[in-house]
Amino acid sequence: MNPATERNYDLHCHSTSSDGELSPTALVQHAARQGVQVMALTDHDVTDGLAEAAAEAEKLGIGFISGVEISVTWQTHLIHIVGLNFDPANEALQQGLAGLRLKRQTRGDEIAQKLAKLGIEDALAGAQAYANGEILSRTHFAKFLVESGRVKTFQSAFDRYLATGKPAYAACEWCTLEEALGWIQGAGGVAVIAHPARYKLSATKLRALIGDFKALGGLGFEVISGSQGVQENHNMADYARRHELQASVGSDFHGPSQTWLGMGRIGPLPKGLVPVWHDWGIATAEMPA
Ligand code: AMP
Ligand code: MN
Ligand code: MN
Ligand code: MN
Repeated sequence: MNPATERNYDLHCHSTSSDGELSPTALVQHAARQGVQVMALTDHDVTDGLAEAAAEAEKLGIGFISGVEISVTWQTHLIHIVGLNFDPANEALQQGLAGLRLKRQTRGDEIAQKLAKLGIEDALAGAQAYANGEILSRTHFAKFLVESGRVKTFQSAFDRYLATGKPAYAACEWCTLEEALGWIQGAGGVAVIAHPARYKLSATKLRALIGDFKALGGLGFEVISGSQGVQENHNMADYARRHELQASVGSDFHGPSQTWLGMGRIGPLPKGLVPVWHDWGIATAEMPA
């Protein structure tokens, strides 16, 4: 077996601290049951779930890496940058994330106003009822739209109302790529471009994103994502090789009701890639054989 892939890594998933369905504890228990051996919790713009998840991971004897998924505006695109293996107590990082959470509140007000104009009242309180963590996400609005009978499925909430360009979509200027990488790297972590195929960028645009990312010291590229197709993963592995980016892998698991690939089902890293965890030194000491 390739030494780089001898353990089952999953470095991208969500808990109830952001828009996931499972508490940090339940998420780690689920990961362990699915055979994950090293995991990172990567909630959107918040690290509140890390301490609880780390404690449970220690109890269950699985490796745990600090993580976060930061909302970035690059050119006109919403890009997600995952931060891994950083110090969650870092002040600049926490101030940056707090600023993003404020933007989420303002955007939430706008989404609710747009829904009200479409005849859907009280969406803000409705969405907040699902947001028991620190952030307000479109996922919470989608849950409210389903549960209040406005749409039949979670996906149709996005397709009809919440996705980019739909009637209740509210544009938001998130942080810059430079800020996100500054916060992650300043806290000792490594930055990863999350699910790079999901943005539907042209090859030229994706190369430009990678160029900007690398110029800022960015190292990682999520070549395998549960939210990408098999062919997309294959293409992203090619980009990582060509641009000498380190490979990361993650299910982007949000909960048992999600339709895409679950935790622990990622499979081995394609050949010829340096894994983002190659120098983390967690391969033997903390891990059961
Ligand atoms: P937010 O970060 O609040 O804008 O919400 C984004 C989250 O909503 C993503 O992390 C996904 O979990 C989900 N999401 C975004 N776009 C879609 C879509 N088109 N269909 C389904 N889920 C989506
Ligand atoms: Mn999400
Ligand atoms: Mn994402
Ligand atoms: Mn995610």
